[in-house]
Amino acid sequence: MRRFVGAPAMLLLALAQGASYAQQPPQVDGIVRLLLRLEQVMQAGNPDAYMDLLSAVADRRFARDASRQLVGPGITRAVIRERDRAPLEGTLPGDGYRLMVEILAERGSRARIETWRLDIRRVPTETSEDEWRMAGQQSLTSVDGLHRLALSASKAYRARNLVVRSDDLEVRLPDGYVFVADTAEGPTAAVLLAGDGSTMSFRPAPESEREQVRIYAGSDSIETRVDEVFLRFNPSEFAARVPADGLVPSEAAPELFRRADAVFREYVVKSFSLDLADLSRDTWSLPPAEGDFLAEIRTRRFQTLTYSKSSNDPEDISLFDRRRRRNISVYASQPSLAAGAGRFEADSRAAFDVLNYELDVSFDPARQWFDGRALLRLRVRADAVNSLTLRLAENLTVRSIYSNEFGRLLSLRIRGQNNVIVNLAGFATRGTQITLDVAYSGRLEPAEPDREAVALQFPQDRPEFIEGSSFPGEVSFLYSSRTAWYPQGAEGDYATAVMHLTVPEPYQVAASGELAPGSPVVVPEIDRQPPAHRYNFEARQPVRYLACLVTRLVRVSTRTVSLVEPLAKLASAGAGAMPSEPLTPGSFNSQLELTVEANPRQLARGRQMLPVAEDIMGYYTSIVGDSPYPDLTIALVEHNLPGGHSPAYLAVLYQPLPAASPNWSGDPAAFVSFPEYFIAHELAHQWWGQAVGWRTYHDQWISEGFSQYFAALYARQRRGEALFQEMLRRMAKWSRDQGKAGPIALGYRLGHIQGDSRIFRAILYNKSAVVLHMLRRTIGDEAFFRGIRRIYFGARFARIGTRDVRAAFEKESGRDLGRFFNAWIESSGTPVVAYSWAREAGGAPAEVVVRVEQRGRESEFPVTVTLQYAGVATEDVQIVVRERVAEFRLPVKGDVKNVILNRDGLTPLEVVGR
Ligand SMILES: [Zn+2]
Repeated sequence: MRRFVGAPAMLLLALAQGASYAQQPPQVDGIVRLLLRLEQVMQAGNPDAYMDLLSAVADRRFARDASRQLVGPGITRAVIRERDRAPLEGTLPGDGYRLMVEILAERGSRARIETWRLDIRRVPTETSEDEWRMAGQQSLTSVDGLHRLALSASKAYRARNLVVRSDDLEVRLPDGYVFVADTAEGPTAAVLLAGDGSTMSFRPAPESEREQVRIYAGSDSIETRVDEVFLRFNPSEFAARVPADGLVPSEAAPELFRRADAVFREYVVKSFSLDLADLSRDTWSLPPAEGDFLAEIRTRRFQTLTYSKSSNDPEDISLFDRRRRRNISVYASQPSLAAGAGRFEADSRAAFDVLNYELDVSFDPARQWFDGRALLRLRVRADAVNSLTLRLAENLTVRSIYSNEFGRLLSLRIRGQNNVIVNLAGFATRGTQITLDVAYSGRLEPAEPDREAVALQFPQDRPEFIEGSSFPGEVSFLYSSRTAWYPQGAEGDYATAVMHLTVPEPYQVAASGELAPGSPVVVPEIDRQPPAHRYNFEARQPVRYLACLVTRLVRVSTRTVSLVEPLAKLASAGAGAMPSEPLTPGSFNSQLELTVEANPRQLARGRQMLPVAEDIMGYYTSIVGDSPYPDLTIALVEHNLPGGHSPAYLAVLYQPLPAASPNWSGDPAAFVSFPEYFIAHELAHQWWGQAVGWRTYHDQWISEGFSQYFAALYARQRRGEALFQEMLRRMAKWSRDQGKAGPIALGYRLGHIQGDSRIFRAILYNKSAVVLHMLRRTIGDEAFFRGIRRIYFGARFARIGTRDVRAAFEKESGRDLGRFFNAWIESSGTPVVAYSWAREAGGAPAEVVVRVEQRGRESEFPVTVTLQYAGVATEDVQIVVRERVAEFRLPVKGDVKNVILNRDGLTPLEVVGR
């Protein structure tokens, strides 16, 4: 999801070097006094005074050059913070240090951040106080162009028919006032006080986005009265954003300024502002990049709407409702699409790949406190980078970052973002391997399980069921993809991992990886620290993200399941079972270590679970031809709602407590007649969602749809065709009923504006599964299952998008599936059809002609035609409708009394009168 507070991280990549959190408390010693003197020298603006700080061994020529850089004219305030201190080579212990410092140099309302390496030496004194001097210095990095913005009280304009425009947005002020915040290059912010009759209009270009606007506002565009507007833009673009022909320089009454200034102060901190921690408590902003634009619009009807255009996001335009925290619209502008910066390109932008993680993390459930070290081995993908952006929850503080290749590194955080920008103090080119050692700590609450979970978002819909003191079950902590609980690369960057996780007694851990032999180790009580369990997990197969579950667990049982070389078995089943060109599957697992663990009260259920899980894993392996991860732990955890979450190597299944559970049988993900549904869905995620990842949120259906369809296939395997059809019919009904909520490709945004996660499940889970079944009915079983294998082996441990899925099925079926995918994945709604039928007189054999006419947007779908004969006999015939008007001649076996379209309800259709 996009983050709307703070500057886009990419904006800073070009600039970011610099500041980090305090890593050592300053000690009042001689070194601190030396740095204070350096601050004074900088503020005095006299480079010569710097020479007085030098030790006898310093090279005075270098020092003079450096002093001009450091002590430029006009510095109004200098702040120096020591970040690192190491012994200086060639000095006796305690006599010399190499310091890493960060410097904020303010010049009025502008500032620059620099990092310097300072070599210092102790000089002999006659007093007891130690005294230090500079022996060498080197500038490492700097970020210029920080602005402390203020609204100008002396400069105001009267607005006369002012129109502010950006893509698909217009703000019109027939009358009003405009105040600006200046920089030396020109204004970068403005506040508009809108007079009577001022309005805004937002009408997104893409049809699917207008549908979302319709859900939000009741019409294709948002038109509303406007009271105040806050704007940010690049200083060179003031005239383009706020056209001069709508402005008349003017005096403004003080109360108008006060009103504008209040608006300014509220919004200026929310975007493009840096967290400078102990360097400055002021709000320092970076100017938006050229072409970037932000408008905070206070409207009558919707309160504050945030419009942003951000050239670094592939989907560069967005509209956000601040009060309700909802994305109303997110899409690529025409120029962005034309430039090929569409959503499919998103992952090729990653600057680096993480190859391997080694985590050593202690977690204290009582305080929800992490203390960790993460070793990241990564490879640079971009041509050259001078900084790396890691994901890490904002609550977790980076204590230090060390790199084998670059030494001690500094990092920067942007307010409101789960990012750490690591400054390399140099460039790394494509292919370079870098090892980062990150020490971090902090309090982090587990998030509700992410969108992978079946019971997703449900507690948000019903606040009374949020887990808390009222929850009578066993407490558990699940840290997974939604909480960046360890420093990590871009989302969905596959890597192998080793995890050492320590928790106090009586807690246990289940995590994504194989439990090492001899693990866990009991760490005895030391220094009043309670005894602890230290676990070692290893993920030898690449995983999309790492997850850990901390709770009280009892081992129910463990078993080695033999998978009998499933691909070989498929091959011997005949050519029809294999993808049309042999894909190299690489090594596959012929064995699976299956373990079930449970909260103590869930032991009995855990025992029932093992044979079911074994059956499911064997069945899925027989379909796909492989099982991606050699180990699987199923953890049964008490929760207020059924559901689950499935990282690689791990499936967490929620066991609802009868007393705490709301009745949710009316949910799209409730299949009461198939109690194995949750485990069947969750286990399928080992293949879909984990081994085969999805590229952007538009492709999330690949994870949920395939898992949901696999769960239905398992229902058929275990309980027969009738249950399978019943489940699909139910899914088709949900897809039809919620069809207008948006296309499958809308991903997490389905039901987002409405705040109703059932819509998300109805479309992303159920409609996706129904679409896969329709695809199978269209191209036939053999091509369909070969397509499944082609997708899996083509994308194991990688991310794919919708077009890859389409390409695999096209390859195996030899058919163009463009219209099918466009209609069912990219478009919303369900086909509306009318049909008629007639007996064909005199033919031999006898026939009926069935005519199907599409009334709405043209689609492509299979549908069952039921022929009712005289008596009770019926016959089902499958047809595929591809044209607006399609006619089918169907041979019949007797006297046809009636013809019914879609009687089995397996196609989401609206059948209207003939
Ligand atoms: Zn799922």
